[in-house]
Parts: sequence; C-alpha cells; structure tokens
Amino acid sequence: MEEIKETTEGKESLNESGLNFVEQEIANDLAAGKNGGRLNTRFPPEPNGYLHIGHAKAFIMDFGAAEKFGGTCNLRFDDTNPQKEDMEYVNAIKEDIHWLGYDWGDRLYYASDYFPQLYDLAVRMIKEGKAYVDEQSSEEIARQKGTPTQPGEASPYRDRPVEENLDLFERMNKGEFEEGSMVLRAKIDMASDNMHFRDPIMYRIIKTPHWRTGDTWKVYPMYDFAHGQSDYFEGVTHSICTLEFVPHRPLYEYFVKELADESYCPRQIEFNRLNLTYTVMSKRKLLQLVKEGLVNGWDDPRMPTLKGLRRRGYTPSSIKDFVNRIGYTRYEALNHIELLEHSVREDLNKTATRVSVVQNPVKLILENYPEGKTEIMTMENNPENPAEGSHEMPFTRELWIERDDFMENPPKKFFRLSPDKEVRLKGAYIIKCTGVEKDSDGNITAIRATYDPDSRSGLPGADRKVKGTLHWVSVPTAVDAEIRDYDRLFSVENPGAYEGDFRDLINPESLKIREHAKIEPWLAERLKTGDNYQFQRLGYYVVDKDSTAEHPVFNKTVGLKDSWAKAMKK
Ligand code: ATP
Ligand code: MG
Repeated sequence: MEEIKETTEGKESLNESGLNFVEQEIANDLAAGKNGGRLNTRFPPEPNGYLHIGHAKAFIMDFGAAEKFGGTCNLRFDDTNPQKEDMEYVNAIKEDIHWLGYDWGDRLYYASDYFPQLYDLAVRMIKEGKAYVDEQSSEEIARQKGTPTQPGEASPYRDRPVEENLDLFERMNKGEFEEGSMVLRAKIDMASDNMHFRDPIMYRIIKTPHWRTGDTWKVYPMYDFAHGQSDYFEGVTHSICTLEFVPHRPLYEYFVKELADESYCPRQIEFNRLNLTYTVMSKRKLLQLVKEGLVNGWDDPRMPTLKGLRRRGYTPSSIKDFVNRIGYTRYEALNHIELLEHSVREDLNKTATRVSVVQNPVKLILENYPEGKTEIMTMENNPENPAEGSHEMPFTRELWIERDDFMENPPKKFFRLSPDKEVRLKGAYIIKCTGVEKDSDGNITAIRATYDPDSRSGLPGADRKVKGTLHWVSVPTAVDAEIRDYDRLFSVENPGAYEGDFRDLINPESLKIREHAKIEPWLAERLKTGDNYQFQRLGYYVVDKDSTAEHPVFNKTVGLKDSWAKAMKK
C-alpha cells in the first residue's frame, strides 16, 4: 500500500443522485445505450482461500449494482492456477455469498470453461504475428523488462517464425517441455511506458492436474490474458475490480479488442480496496495464520474472513451497513475497525434479546431472604422493541453477581457494591451490603447483604434513588457456561504495512476464556448456534458452534461501549 488516506464515512463520496462513482459510470453507459442497454457484472474469486470482508466489499458492489439497475451478476471462479486451487474453497465461497443475501441464479461460471476458446485465441494471435514462444528463464525475462524509466530489451526469440511458434505452443500443451522452460508472450512493445505492455506472458506450463479439467491442459493462461476474455465470453459489461488493476487496464482493453466490437465491449472500473486497522487481509498471510495454528482455523472469530465474522456474531446487515458507510472511492484508505464494531452494535441493539449472564461470578447471600423461597421476576427482552415481550427469571436467597461489581475498599466514585452501600439488582430488589466471607488466604468467597422487601421492581418502594444497578443470576438454577472473550488479533494499527514478520505483531491476549460463567436458565433452554444476545451490562454475544446443552459456549462479538460514536461526538 503506497499512500494511506484516512477516511471516516463514505457517504460523502456519493453524488446528488445518491450514486457512488462506479454506479454513476454504469448509469452513464446505460443512458448512452452501450452494450444494447445491458448491465452484467461479475464477481471473480480465485478458489484459493476463504472470502474475507474485503471480498465482501467487492461483491456487494458487483451484486448490488446489478440489483440496483436491474442487471445480472455472474459468479465466476477464476480457476487458472491448478497449483493453488481447491474444491473446498468453491463451496465455502458460495456459502459466504449466500450468507450476505446474494445469488447468481444460473450464472455460475469457471474461467476453466473458456480454456478452449482462450487457446484458440492464442493460436490466432500467433498466426497473426502477435504472440511468440520465449525459451528464456523467468529471471532473464524479468531482467530484460527494463524499468519504468528505461525501455526493455527484446527477447532473442521475439522474431521466431510463425510456424515454429505454432509448433512449440502445441507441444508445450502436450507436455513435451518442463515447467518454466518456455512461455507464450504477446508481442506488443518492449519500450512502452506501461510495463504491462512489454511483451506480457500469456501462457505458462503447469503440469499439476486441474481439479476440473484434469490433465487436458499443460498450458494455463495468465490473469491478464484470461480475465478480460472471460468477461467477454460471458457477456459481462462492467468488470469492477480494485485499484491495483489500474495499470493493467490498457492490457485488458488490448486483449479484449481482439474479440469485441462496438456492439458489445466489456470495460474495467476500479475502486479502493478495503483495509482494516488491526487486521491483515492478504490471503497468503491468512493462510499462514491457519496453517501454523496461530488461530483456530479459517472460521476463528478473530479472523476477518466472512466465516470468522459470522462465528464472531456479525450479522449480514451489519457488514453491508459498514461497507455502505465506508463507500467506494478512488483513494486507498485504512478503515477503522471501530466503525465495523459500531455497525454491528447498532444492528444488535435493535435485534438482540437481553439476558442475564455473570461472567466472573461471586456469590451474594441475602441474609434476610427466606431459604428455599423463589420469586419470579419479569425481564424485558428488548427495551428497544417492546413487541419482543419479556421472560421470567427466578430470584432466590443466593445469587451470582460479578466479582468486579464489588470492592471492599472502593475509591470515591465507585457506584457498585461495597460494605454498607446500597445497589439495585436489576428487575428485582434494592440490597445493602453487610459484609464478606473470606477463605484462609483472605480471598472473598461470598458477599453478604440484606434486601429491602418494599423495593421490589414495580412497587412504589422501588422508586428510591440508588446509584448502581447490578445484573445477577439465581444460584440454584444457573447453568455453567464458557465465554470466549476476543480482542484484536494484532496489537498495532496497520500490521499490513509492517516490514518485518507480521506474526511478531500478534496480540498474545487476543483470546481469553472464561470457563465458569453463569447463565440464566431461560437462556440455557434455547441455545442455538449463531443466535445473538446482549448480556446485560457486558456486551453482545453469540452462541458458538461448539456449544452443547451440557456445555454452553459463547463468543463475545463486541462490548457495549461505542468508541466510534464517542469519537464522532468530539
Ligand atoms: P489474490 O489475487 O492475491 O489471490 P485476492 O484477495 O485479490 O487475492 P481474488 O479471489 O482474486 O483474491 O479476489 C476476488 C475479488 O475480490 C477481486 O476482484 C479483488 O479485486 C477483490 N478484492 C480482494 N481483496 C479486496 C479488498 N481488500 N477490498 C476490496 N476488494 C477486494
Ligand atoms: Mg486477486
């Protein structure tokens, strides 16, 4: 990444009609009647890894623009390198796109579908003197490329006769030559200002069988030769990609011209990538994190993959909202992860059911509450949406409260529980601390208190002013649960820009496991993987796939404190 420009909200990048610059280009083309007034976009993932939130930004544009203008969007697997690709990724990619609510209908394609046409085009270009077989090593070819200020040098094979090129290319494809021993190059201009025009490689030899086409092919097209042509074969009109492809655009146009005419010609438009603070987004690095066991798989809740975000409790609408906020521009940017967190918080605040969970429990004993008695308290499911109703929670003499909600020697502004002080137990009674019980090492094992029977929630005595309100869970009916509390995976803001080993930047505290959290029985009865909850006063949590009735497991999605909203107010 060369230049990082901080952006906050991308809404400012929309024009008067509420369109971003890519959508405006599309609107202009449609208005001008280009391509017979058709819009067809495509999302072209290479099946060599799982999709991350950056890919989501790309396909929200591709599918979203098609939806907006009544066009279509293809899903095309860019499977031109059999050495790195796998079926496992194909299914995962489809699942992730569906999760965000998009569908390609019957428009599922593979670049490998076009291998015959691409091969024929290469042969035609050889016959027309526009391509040649080069027998130099890749090092030699790179050396002759020149620099942006110095022209390149012609290969000694550049003027090989057509017949010889045809024969060699055919034999390359039959497997007669070793990998790396020859390539097919386009004969364009070794002195071009655009380095991509200095006789770019069109085909290389790969002998690894392809997962779809087996060993039919021994030559495979390079991205630049395959992409625009695949767009053309598929009827794609707008090929939307990221800014690093800007210098490739003239080559895209050069190759497409070999096929297209005025009636239909695909075009490439580029927007800025998504880069997130405290996150690496390179597929190579993500693969390394997984392979080396530095995270627990592709769906580890600390990963920026869509599978990871889903397991973390992110919702499709929160991801779309975030992408919408950062917008699409032509400037590279580093986007703040706090904004993503803000989006999920805003969404879950509207939808997540409120429940009581004590993550670091200490026992509270109400001395004047009868032993064996149970009262049923009513807890609101979501104050943001009264239609969600309420649920019941048992109240007993012994309760779990948070250890952090008590201090024996509190500082002045501590509004939670301490000796002789009163607090409210949410939805129940006002209590007053009378003392503590300790073990022989001086650790607090229980907190003692009395409750005020006239202060029950809903009764007039409850209106008394008391500073703090604590959440609680009844001891006899509480269920033990595991909470996985996540922090940022990297401890620096821009790990992607670090010159050294990015693994040195991993935050050693990025996962804390709390084994003995106490959850209310109502929650324990309805555990379903992927369900989002707000744990009162703690944050948003999601039921993990490892969860069972005997051993409930939750992932923390995000805390309640919104550092983004706070920063925006300043
Ligand atoms: P690589 O090509 O290095 O394997 P990639 O992340 O570009 O990695 P692709 O499968 O080629 O992977 O990506 C598919 C599409 O997603 C491309 O059009 C690419 O431009 C887009 N894309 C990838 N990363 C981002 C990102 N961080 N932000 C926005 N779009 C992205
Ligand atoms: Mg790519």
